[in-house]
Amino acid sequence: MELLKKTALEQHNALINKEISALELTKASIERIEKLDKTLGAFNSNTFDFAIDTAKKVDEKIAKGETIPILAGIPTALKDNMNMKDTYTTCSSKILENYVSPYDATITKKLKDNLVPILGKANLDEFAMGSSNENSAFKIVRNPYNLNKVPGGSSGGSAASVSASEVTLSLGSDTGGSIRLPASFCGIYGFKPTYGRVSRYGLIAFASSLDQIGPFGRSVEDITYLYETIAGYDRHDSTSLKMEVGNISSNLKKDIKGLRVGVIKELLGEGTNDDVKNSVLNAIKTFEKLGATIKEISLPLLKHSIGVYYIVATAEASSNLARFDGVRYGLRAQNCENILQMYEKSRAQGFGPEVKRRIMLGTYALSSGYYDAYYKKAQQLRRLIANDFNKAFLDVDIMVSPTCPTTAFDLNSKANNPLEMYLTDIATISSNLVGCPALSMPIGNDKDNMPIGLQVIAKNLDEMTLLQSAYALEQELNVYNQRPAI
Ligand code: GLN
Repeated sequence: MELLKKTALEQHNALINKEISALELTKASIERIEKLDKTLGAFNSNTFDFAIDTAKKVDEKIAKGETIPILAGIPTALKDNMNMKDTYTTCSSKILENYVSPYDATITKKLKDNLVPILGKANLDEFAMGSSNENSAFKIVRNPYNLNKVPGGSSGGSAASVSASEVTLSLGSDTGGSIRLPASFCGIYGFKPTYGRVSRYGLIAFASSLDQIGPFGRSVEDITYLYETIAGYDRHDSTSLKMEVGNISSNLKKDIKGLRVGVIKELLGEGTNDDVKNSVLNAIKTFEKLGATIKEISLPLLKHSIGVYYIVATAEASSNLARFDGVRYGLRAQNCENILQMYEKSRAQGFGPEVKRRIMLGTYALSSGYYDAYYKKAQQLRRLIANDFNKAFLDVDIMVSPTCPTTAFDLNSKANNPLEMYLTDIATISSNLVGCPALSMPIGNDKDNMPIGLQVIAKNLDEMTLLQSAYALEQELNVYNQRPAI
C-alpha cells in the first residue's frame, strides 16, 4: 500500500480525513512485515494483537469525532532491548531468549498512552554491542537498499523496518552511534537526544552514562513528533532531566539565516569515501545558500574518542551485565555441581563472543591494578573531549560531519575484525561521551545507490536548533524520495 511508504504526518492526515482507518493501516503494516521480514530479519518477535487492539481504539475515537494524538494509529516498532509488558525482550541474546517483560518501559507507556500501535520488537546487535547487526544471536538484518549489505548497528532492525516501510516509525537506543549509523546506512532519519532527555527506565542497560533512546523516521517532522511523545522527566530514571522539552514541532519552520555551521575538519579528511565527502560538501553549500555562515572547526582530541569509549562503555557494561547470572533472569545452565559453576556456565552459554569480549575488557579496565591507568585516564580524557566541544560551540551553533566515513558495507566484511568494526563509529561516539544531541539525515546516495548520511550535532539541550537546521536543509535537498527498491 502506497500510504505505508508515506510519513507519519501524511498518515495522520489520511486517518483524520477518513481516507483510511487505523485498522486498515495497521493490517497493511502486518501484511508487509509478513511478506518481507523473512528476508530482512528486522523483527525478533511481533506484537500484532496489541497493534490491532490499539488501532481499533483509534478508529473508535475518530468515529466519535474526538481528536487523536498526532502519532495515534501510526505503525511503530520498538528495539528489542526495551521492555513492553508481557512481550519477549531478548536483547538479541540467548541469555534472554525466553525472557518476558513484567512491566512497561516509560517510553512504551508513553506510546501506549498515545495509542501508538506497536507492531513488534526489532532485531539488534546482542545487548546493543555492534555496528552492523551481525552480532545478533538469532539472525542478521539485511539492508533494504541492497540485501547483501549490513543495515548498520546496533539498532539495525529498527532502521531497516522503517526504511523498508514495514513500519513508519521506530525507537532505537544510541550508546555510541547505534541510532545514527543505521539511519545513515538505511537512508532514513535517526536522532539521539541530549543525555537525560528521554527516560531510560525499562531500557536494558548497556553503558548507563552513554545510553539514550531516540526516534527513527522518514522526515524531520516525524522524528520531532516521536521525540516530543517520549521525552521528559521521569521519576523512575534519576538521570532524566527535570526540564521543559519545549514545543519544537510548532517551531520547526524557522529560517536559518545567520546560523553558524561548524564543519569538523578531522572528519572530512583522509579515510572519508569520495562520494560521502562530496555529498557532505554539497549539504554544506546548501546551508550556505540558506543564509548560514560556514566555519571550519577542529576537535583535536576526537581521535581519542574511540579509545575512551571502549574503556568507559565496556567498564559500565561489565557492571550492568553482572545481573545476568542464571539466577534472576533468563537462561540457566543445567547439570551444575555448585552455584559458582552455574553462574559460570550460564554466562558462558548465554552470552555471544562480542559481549564476552566487552565484559572481559571492562572488568580488566576496572580491576584495582589497572583502574588508574585505564578507567580513570579515560574519564579524564572524556572531560577534555567535552571541553573541546564546549570551546567549538562558542563559535558555532551546530556542527556537521559525515555520520560515517563510508556507506553500508558488505555483510561479513568486518565481522571477524572487531577493531575495524569499532572504527566505523569514529564520527558518532564523541556526542555520547559529551552528552549532546545529534542526528543523522539522508543527503544523497553513492554511485551504487547506497544512502549517505549527514550528522548534525548541537549543544547540550539545544534540540530546537538541531531540528530546525535539519528541517531547513531537508526542504532544500529533498532526497528522501530515493527509496529502496524492496
Ligand atoms: N557500535 C558501538 C558499539 O558497538 C555503539 C553501539 C551503540 O550505540 N549501542 O559499542
